[in-house]
This record gives sequence, structure tokens and C-alpha cells, in this order.
Amino acid sequence: MAEFMPGATHLECTATGERFDSERLQGLSPAGKPLFARYDLAAIRETFTPAALRGRRPDLWRYAEVLPVRDPSARVCLGEGFTPLLDAPRLARRLGTGRVWVKDEGQNPTGSFKARGLGLAVSRAKELGAEAVALPSAGNAGSAAAAYGAAAGLPVHVVVPQDTPRPIVEEIRALGADLQLLDGLITDCGRVVKQGVEEKGWFDLSTLKEPYRVEGKKTMGYELFEQLGGRLPDVILYPTGGGTGLIGMWKAFDEMEALGWIGSERPRMVTVQAAGCAPMVRAFEEGAASAEAWQNAATYASGLRVPGAVGDFLILQALRESGGTAVAVPDHEMATWVHRMGADTGVFAAPEGGAVAAAAAKLRASGFLADDDEVVLFNTGSGLKYVGMEPVD
Ligand SMILES: *Cc1c(COP(=O)(O)O)cnc(C)c1O
Repeated sequence: MAEFMPGATHLECTATGERFDSERLQGLSPAGKPLFARYDLAAIRETFTPAALRGRRPDLWRYAEVLPVRDPSARVCLGEGFTPLLDAPRLARRLGTGRVWVKDEGQNPTGSFKARGLGLAVSRAKELGAEAVALPSAGNAGSAAAAYGAAAGLPVHVVVPQDTPRPIVEEIRALGADLQLLDGLITDCGRVVKQGVEEKGWFDLSTLKEPYRVEGKKTMGYELFEQLGGRLPDVILYPTGGGTGLIGMWKAFDEMEALGWIGSERPRMVTVQAAGCAPMVRAFEEGAASAEAWQNAATYASGLRVPGAVGDFLILQALRESGGTAVAVPDHEMATWVHRMGADTGVFAAPEGGAVAAAAAKLRASGFLADDDEVVLFNTGSGLKYVGMEPVD
């Protein structure tokens, strides 16, 4: 009785607008830029409404009409998405802003929001005939890929820096992936993956180098709308590495406008990075359209240890078009705010979540956040995955 979904109509280059076939495996566009999946939103506008979502399964597949997987039996499910949006009145009082919500992505399978992107990417890669997948990772993407690959019965090759948090390394191993540890950063790991892609035919699941991780992450935008009872917050603070989630939510808002769910208003989007690796913050402050790679990247927030991002121009566009900003936070402040957030909310956040709370305090002090703003803080992972890691500054 499972119904096939319409899926995407085509893929579109985010830089040139050129169109490509969505029904075969695709990487970057010929221009070397990310591809976005496009849907016939006009055709589903009448039926894919907020009211139609009521009573659907409490995971990201509730948004199946705007996801690329056509065959329901191709979905690889571990319970990804529809994480709680937690009202945090004591944290709001501490920060001195109107209302604070914590989107607790640490409750996803594998303890981070990477489950959303990799759940989609692995499902779609399998549906389109990939026989093995591979990716470089700062850690959490590797364990999410390992989990979904295991669930799908698809071999997974992961390359991570050797100083990746130990719990994540153990997790990747336990999930049966082929794991390589490398003395270097995620960008160095990317070179090893590229070799396997060229020589062994692995399908490359690197951030934004295939079109579907961003489709999984965009569901966070749909969830915020639903969980806030049909509206969006004033400000979204997002810990940014490759930026998939921020780019994904920005895409979701455009889709929601085309579907008639929202108007042209948007939340102010804020990128939060580590002081020891802040290429997007630097580019934002310089008014640049793209970001130069960060040298000697160092932070214990491994998800933020990303010196360069292929979607840099898309992140910067979203920050500027939304009236947002970009903030860098030193590691020791992340650690302080992990504790404050924990004591105020009951959520044991990853350092990336602590970074976002620390950034909110800075933005309240600078006046960017007003005393009546409604703010969503993304805690992107569970603190349990970083036990034993220490701030580097
Ligand atoms: C990967 C990761 C990030 C960065 O996410 P992007 O969407 O790539 O910017 C933030 N926090 C955690 C815990 C992560 O694993």
C-alpha cells in the first residue's frame, strides 16, 4: 500500500542555475558547486499543508513530499529527526532575551544531527544504485554514515583525523565501517576519500558534494515551523562547519514560502564558529562573497574544525539576506556555556551547542539580540560524544 513519492523534478547548480538529472547519482556540478534538488511545489501546494502533517510519523519522513526518495522501501530509518524544541525560560533569563528555545539535535540516532543528512544521503545513494559510500569527517558525519550504511547493508568507508573524540571513533568501529585515522584535518581526509572514489568507485558523501545531505538537514526548518505552531523565530543561532544545516534551513524557508506556509519574512540567521577556526566569520566581516581556508584550525568542537566549505557562498548569502551575523567563540567559553546550558535546561550539550549559547550572550551584549527576541539555539550533538576532550585555548 506504500505510495511512491513524486521526488525531485531535477537538480539545479547553486551557482549557475543549470539543470541536471535527479534520477542518477550526481556529485558537484560541472562548475564545481553544490547541486540543489528542486520539486514541483505548485503541484503539491494543495495537499502538502501544515494540517496534512498532523498525525504523521514523528521523524523527518513526515516531510516525504519535499524529500528526494521515491520508493518508501528505500528509506533507511533509525528514528532521525523531529527532535524536541525545548522551551528554556531560565536560559532566556540568564541571556536577558525574550524567549529561548533549544533544538536538541543530540537526541538523534548516533547523537548528532548528522543523522538527518546521512539518513537521506544513504537512502538516496542506495535507491540510485551506489555499491559503496565514503566520506571524510570530523567525527559525527562518519558515525552517522556508518549507522545508515549498516542499516542499509551498504559498505561505508570513513576517514577521520586521528584526534577525533574517542567515543566517536569507537562508535564508527562498532557500526562496522571501514575506518582510517589520519594525522591531519578533515580537508586532508578528503584527499584520501577522493582517491578511493577515483580508484574504487566509492560514492562520495562529503558535505554538499552530493545533493541530499542538505535535503535531510533542511527538515530542521520545517520542524521549527511546525513545533512553534506555524511560525518561525526571530533569530536562529547555528554552529557552522560545512554549513549544511544553515543552507538547508534557508532552502526550506524558500520552499515553505512557495508552498504558501510563510510569507517573505525570515529569521535572522547567525553562524557561530570556533575562534580557532572561523573562516566564515572572517569572510562575513570582510564583506567577502566566499571564504578563504583557515590555517592551523584548532578547536575541541570537532564539528567546527572545518577550515574550508564548498558551500561558503551560500552560507554568506543567507547571513546577509536575513540580516544575520557571524560570531567566533573561544573553546573555554564553549565549555563554560555547556555547563550553564546544562544547569539551566537539563540538556548536556556538545561544545558546538555551548558555542551557540556563548554567542547568544555576546550578541545580547552587543545589542544584536533585543530583550524581546525569540531565539532558537541549535544544540547539534550530545555532550556524551566529547567526554575526555578538553578546550584547546
Ligand atoms: C558537523 C557538526 C556541526 C557543523 O554542521 P554543518 O551543518 O556541517 O555546518 C556542528 N555541530 C556538530 C555536533 C557537528 O557534528
